[in-house]
Amino acid sequence: MIAASPVPLRVGIMGGTFDPIHHGHLVAASEVADEFGLDEVVFVPTGAQPFKLDRDVTVAEHRYLMAVVATASNPRFTVSRVDIDRPGVTYTIDTLRDLHAAYPGAELFFITGADALSQIMQWKDVSELLKLAHFVGVTRPGHDLSAEELPPGEYSLHEIPAMAISSTDCRQRVIADKPVWYLVPDGVVQYIGKHRLYKDVSTITERLA
Ligand code: ATP
Ligand code: MG
Repeated sequence: MIAASPVPLRVGIMGGTFDPIHHGHLVAASEVADEFGLDEVVFVPTGAQPFKLDRDVTVAEHRYLMAVVATASNPRFTVSRVDIDRPGVTYTIDTLRDLHAAYPGAELFFITGADALSQIMQWKDVSELLKLAHFVGVTRPGHDLSAEELPPGEYSLHEIPAMAISSTDCRQRVIADKPVWYLVPDGVVQYIGKHRLYKDVSTITERLA
């Protein structure tokens, strides 16, 4: 008798700088997990990003730990260190290869907001990228959700509840002593305060350019 082949695990990947992680990221992951029947969503804080080399970014360990705090209560959410532990600039092609190695045989779904989706054609090794994962673009207020440059059938577009939240706005609020309560999870508000993120320059990594 031929043994039934196991159903491949369906794994979502939510990559981001997460400086800090906010409810827009969490809603996107939760909505796509529900729509695509995902078993798990892995949040992957990036190392240095090609499109953000001219910007100060918070120390990777803080961004990683905020992602851990934010996702701790959801049994389907996990956080990966693959990008922050790999030296040099983060390219999504390396993220996908590393996650294929970590989840052999799994089907990968790369979740991205409308703003990032429109840049994908500029990403390194785009044709291989599209083979390694199914790309799911989600709506984001202020950005058009389209992927006309991408080959049809290689991606999906999905509408999610509009969360007009960005990490940039959260950082600016902290700097201006304005609240970030309810924009980011409670534990992340407390983590930011405890470590004086966005206030204390020692929490910032050097920019690479
Ligand atoms: P920054 O302002 O620093 O660029 P950000 O809020 O855009 O931060 P990122 O870490 O850059 O957050 O984004 C990670 C991923 O999450 C990207 O694919 C981005 O498009 C998506 N994303 C971020 N915020 C939202 C949101 N409010 N709704 C939908 N998708 C989002
Ligand atoms: Mg962004």
